[in-house]
Amino acid sequence: MIDNHQALKIKTELLCKGLYLDERLIEHYKAQGINIDYGRKGGAGPSGGRYFLLEDGLTLINIALWNNPKKTELSLKENKEGYFQVYNENRNELFGRLKLIRNPRFYSPEFKTSDGIPMKKIALVHGIDCLASTIYQKCVYWGCGEACSFCGIEISLQNDSTIVEKNAKQMSEVINAAKKEGRCNHMTLTSGTDETLDKGANRYIELLKGVKKNHADLPLHIQIEALEDLEYINRLKEAGADTIGIHIEVLDENLRRDITPGKFHLSHKLYENNWKHAIEVFGTNQVSSYILTGFGENKVKFLRDVEKVVSIGVIPYITPVRSIPRKKDLPITDYNELLDIYTKTAELMIQYGVNPLKNRAGCVRCSGCSAINEAYKAAV
Ligand code: SF4
Repeated sequence: MIDNHQALKIKTELLCKGLYLDERLIEHYKAQGINIDYGRKGGAGPSGGRYFLLEDGLTLINIALWNNPKKTELSLKENKEGYFQVYNENRNELFGRLKLIRNPRFYSPEFKTSDGIPMKKIALVHGIDCLASTIYQKCVYWGCGEACSFCGIEISLQNDSTIVEKNAKQMSEVINAAKKEGRCNHMTLTSGTDETLDKGANRYIELLKGVKKNHADLPLHIQIEALEDLEYINRLKEAGADTIGIHIEVLDENLRRDITPGKFHLSHKLYENNWKHAIEVFGTNQVSSYILTGFGENKVKFLRDVEKVVSIGVIPYITPVRSIPRKKDLPITDYNELLDIYTKTAELMIQYGVNPLKNRAGCVRCSGCSAINEAYKAAV
């Protein structure tokens, strides 16, 4: 039996270290009817991984799969009775057992939208039941050489695994297909940043309205950078967004300059104003911010900054940074450090009355990429 504390510990370790998948085993698993690969090569959230459940059947993890054994001591081995055995090669012992979440049927090429686009190019299932889509696959910062170092948004375009822009009709059709197989109970919508003042909000608004017309009951999450004109936050809510992520990604000012050069011109103060306004509009527990760790930040300072975010009422979606396949290698986050960060952040969330388990849609509800929900469960 895995209790909340163990789930937090195991998940944090797997989030940081990932798993080594021996390329030669892919065909071996295929012969057993198990399709495993190195995951998507770009797009929303950390890429290059697959979704697994711990043995408790509840704890979901988006785990990096490496093709290089030097990246991690944890290896994916034989699949027995539906569970992959995970070995710690350094200790020569069983680490645990994981259930691979299968890809949905609509990924097959015969599933197409009415305008002939393979459904897989429109949206993907993240975890078990979170349909996710990058509604606009370009970003102003890529165009001017100031892309965030952890971002893979335009890589999916280069791979031809998606299309530049998705519309509400295409999205609604994929939602129908995903719902039929029980793989869509909420959605994450993300986008690159636009050059215009609305930063892409208008594109979201059009899509949200169209999707809500067809799927009024489906909770929708959108993600955007801090806006100079806060009125767009109201409009996004009115158009049908249920939750919002206003993503700062890096808290430390010096690191921000290097890691998110394009977004660096947006001040902390602007983010604070956006978060405060978004909480008024979207309500308690419905506003979050992706915060990456593992860039060598000072932990005490990091936690001080996290406290500022939490004290406003924002859920800090703390995630260890992961290298984008075939892009610059980023450091592997120390899992004991991250465990401590999660534990202390959960205490802060309790202290300030922030509850991630009450979030209605998107990354916080999915929880695949961060152990913030497990930390909260372990702390209450
Ligand atoms: S938390 Fe879930 S929805 Fe968000 S990026 Fe990760 S896997 Fe996708």
